[in-house]
Amino acid sequence: MRIKTLVILIILLIASNLSSYWWPVEPQDKQHGINATLGEWRVGHFHAGVDINESLDSIYCPATSIVDTTELKHNWIGKFRYIHVILLEFPHDTTLLPGDNIGYITGSHLHFRERSSDTMHWDNSDALNPLFHGTLTPYVDSTNPHIDSVKFYRQASDSLMTGILDNRVDILSVAGDTRTDTAGHSAGHNVSVYRIGYEIKNILGSVVKDYWERIRFDTILDPSNSSQLNLTYGSGSSRTHFRYWVTNDPFNDTTNLRNWYWNTKHRADSSGVSFPDSVDADSIEVAQFKDGHYWVKIFAYDIRVNADSESIMVRIDNFPPANDVGHFCHN
Ligand SMILES: [Zn+2]
Repeated sequence: MRIKTLVILIILLIASNLSSYWWPVEPQDKQHGINATLGEWRVGHFHAGVDINESLDSIYCPATSIVDTTELKHNWIGKFRYIHVILLEFPHDTTLLPGDNIGYITGSHLHFRERSSDTMHWDNSDALNPLFHGTLTPYVDSTNPHIDSVKFYRQASDSLMTGILDNRVDILSVAGDTRTDTAGHSAGHNVSVYRIGYEIKNILGSVVKDYWERIRFDTILDPSNSSQLNLTYGSGSSRTHFRYWVTNDPFNDTTNLRNWYWNTKHRADSSGVSFPDSVDADSIEVAQFKDGHYWVKIFAYDIRVNADSESIMVRIDNFPPANDVGHFCHN
């Protein structure tokens, strides 16, 4: 009996940490369509919330929230921000409960944003992903995202590499998600994937470079950071077309590690010493990727772990063949 009580207590503790909340439109206990996801490309910034596909409708408090009248002017109530709406007036410190009417949508959708706490500044706060398990509830999704293309560029440049890869390479992958869920909601267009990454396999299918995934939209600390935006998305991206720089590390805390690459010339001795990505092999004997053919495999996921993958064969050529030595001595 005691153990049972303890188990129930632990389950309750875990559940309360998830801090799930209702939808801000009616019916609040049913899923609604999502037209745009966190992290999508926008002109000069990341999309900082989700777009809920309801027009000219009333909106309702999703979780207990306390009104701050200064924040209310900027469309924040508690942890949530509502855009394309007119919010009702409430006195400072009013406690709003789930289900309370708080305003209405003035356009074709509700832009809904969440931040990590009630007490952060409204003007430059982090943006959380409201589609996590245990946040906006219920939310199911069983359709796969799609990978449309994979291309290679010389690191930090716009020059396309075709055929043979060498030195430092950027991988650009076009991907997206049409967001048609089991409830029949459709975004009607392409939205962003939740995360995307790559790994390298040899011709026999063994992984020779571990999966690298740095584009992942759990939270965006600074949605207006255009430098991070341009390290995440290649030029030609739009609000419905997403070109991801999967080799970059745009959210790294250390700024000069953000513009990253796949070093096809990476040094890897058999000694077991691990060298940073930036260290080049000076001969084929100590190269991680001996000259030859490899598979580049891209993985894209939505937030409910539906996935797509795409494998592209490439040829790496960093070192002159050994039989080239003395080539000019032939008569
Ligand atoms: Zn929006």
